[in-house]
Amino acid sequence: MPLQFTFVTSAKRYSDLPPTPCEAAFVGRSNVGKSSVINALANRRQLARVSNTPGRTQLLNMFVLPSGGTVVDLPGYGYAKVPGRERSTWQAMIEGYLLEREGLELVFVLVDGEIGPTKLDVQMLEWLRASGVPHTVVATKIDKVRPSKLATRKKELAKGCALEQGDIMWVSASKGTGIDQLQRHVDALLTP
Ligand code: GDP
Repeated sequence: MPLQFTFVTSAKRYSDLPPTPCEAAFVGRSNVGKSSVINALANRRQLARVSNTPGRTQLLNMFVLPSGGTVVDLPGYGYAKVPGRERSTWQAMIEGYLLEREGLELVFVLVDGEIGPTKLDVQMLEWLRASGVPHTVVATKIDKVRPSKLATRKKELAKGCALEQGDIMWVSASKGTGIDQLQRHVDALLTP
């Protein structure tokens, strides 16, 4: 079942977000397919912008579900073109959010199923682990992995993330693979 996302607000600072009873956040490297996954969860085309323009999606975007639970789309990390100053602003904003946000239940860390995890993904996972922030890895773009390579790729990706294979959810926003399962997961998480 598609999740009924309603856009609430975009904020530069996590402290400007309205309070929430429970929240799930999505984070990942730019171009990992995060907007596509969020759009697929809602079965909408343009909810989260699918865009490759650096620096234009540097905001926290918040959505509410009918249960009252909320979802936050965090800006993507790892644009080479973003200058150092902006990168550190990003870091402060995201780290502040992840450490301080009241009601944050789970962070979905999106990793590119074809090429991930990248160095930055590993850094993010290590930081979340060290900070005690609950998180789950979602591997994207499973349709881009050849079926003959899938078993090996799943093993490599899990190893790269220092996780068991069963801990990782695999999805394709393009083909809809695994989206149902992720919808149910988010729904269960955010239903009081
Ligand atoms: P974001 O920057 O993480 O929000 O990534 P986007 O959702 O904008 O997607 C980045 C690129 O990957 C776009 O060209 C998408 O069309 C493509 N993409 C996203 N999801 C999938 C997928 O499941 N399969 C394939 N093959 N391509 C995808």
